[in-house]
Amino acid sequence: ITRIFSGIQPTGIPHLGNYLGTLSNWARLQDQLTRQTPSEDCATNAVQARDKVIYSIADLHAFTVPQPPKAVLKNTLDMTASIIACGVDPERCVLFRQSAVPLHTELAWMLNCITPVGWLHKMTQWKTKLQNKNPSDHGTASSGIDAASDPNSETSKLRLGLFAYPVLQAADILLYSASHVPVGEDQKQHIELTRDIADMANRHFKTKLFQLPDVLMTTNKRVMSLRDPTKKMSKSDKTANATILLTDSDDDIRSKIRKTVTDPIDTVTYDPENRPGVANLLRIYSAFYQRAENSSNAESSALNDVTQLFAGKKNQELKEKTTDIVIESTRKVRQELKRIIKEEDYLMGCLLRGEEEASMIAAKNWERVKKASGLS
Ligand code: ATP
Ligand code: MG
Repeated sequence: ITRIFSGIQPTGIPHLGNYLGTLSNWARLQDQLTRQTPSEDCATNAVQARDKVIYSIADLHAFTVPQPPKAVLKNTLDMTASIIACGVDPERCVLFRQSAVPLHTELAWMLNCITPVGWLHKMTQWKTKLQNKNPSDHGTASSGIDAASDPNSETSKLRLGLFAYPVLQAADILLYSASHVPVGEDQKQHIELTRDIADMANRHFKTKLFQLPDVLMTTNKRVMSLRDPTKKMSKSDKTANATILLTDSDDDIRSKIRKTVTDPIDTVTYDPENRPGVANLLRIYSAFYQRAENSSNAESSALNDVTQLFAGKKNQELKEKTTDIVIESTRKVRQELKRIIKEEDYLMGCLLRGEEEASMIAAKNWERVKKASGLS
């Protein structure tokens, strides 16, 4: 690993899925990759260590769904606070706002000009959006194209940004020559697309401009909505009680888990296909259990242990135990978030410092693109 890059959209307070799938992992990776802190070593070493780990608040990506202007800056600061509360230390990594480095959109444009639209039509997230607009369409790439070319169809009203944002995501990553991108499972396909785009660009410009990044998949599979366990938990899902947020109180967590949609079968079994609600609780429990045990065992083995632990027990007991483990395991993070979310000047200062460093790295890579493309 020479450099990691990852991003998160400031579309609301992070939930348990963001925490287990991404943010806790961001902190762990930072700890592994940057041992020195500025106080422990001389300034130059600290700078070298900082730019190995780059985390971005992807505010431009947030605009793929309408954002109320008044909420944008507040959401960015809330996300900054959340990331820091999860253990990311702005002294040891580069933490910045995507929109503060305009080269992201400039590189995205160049990549737009070489990315085949067919690749974007294959993106599962896009196909899901198409299908939601047009349920008779079964989400195949060709029917998507047909429907989109009819200017009066529902799907043609979807915005270009929503279709094209994986290319902006590729630009985010390639601008920093990231070797690894830690993301949750739902983003794997987009990182694979980033590799394809990088490879395409290298051929197109006949020089090795971009490093092909690898996915660093978090071991915890996706956390599902508490109200509809067939859907992933999402910040933008405004269904009441569907998400557990890092700003939730103990009582909020208790009440949301108590109301989790399960099924009429009374005892616990792990059957994700037929009993997705119960399976989701078992996976959440197992993710925290694995951490509490500090076990390096694979996720599947923790899940086996936990399934054994609850075998023959009532769903009710699973809900209670999951409540306890979630409350305990997230207490420190939630307390820290409560404190730091009010420190707006401090948060802005962290971002400004990150922006400066990110701009320097980005500028170097952009210069190479300009040279290869003939722009400079
Ligand atoms: P939005 O609804 O605005 O897209 P989101 O909850 O999907 O919000 P993102 O900002 O898109 O969050 O993604 C941030 C990171 O969190 C990504 O790495 C993504 O893989 C991860 N992530 C998002 N949702 C989940 C989930 N339910 N379980 C595990 N990881 C998740
Ligand atoms: Mg998302």
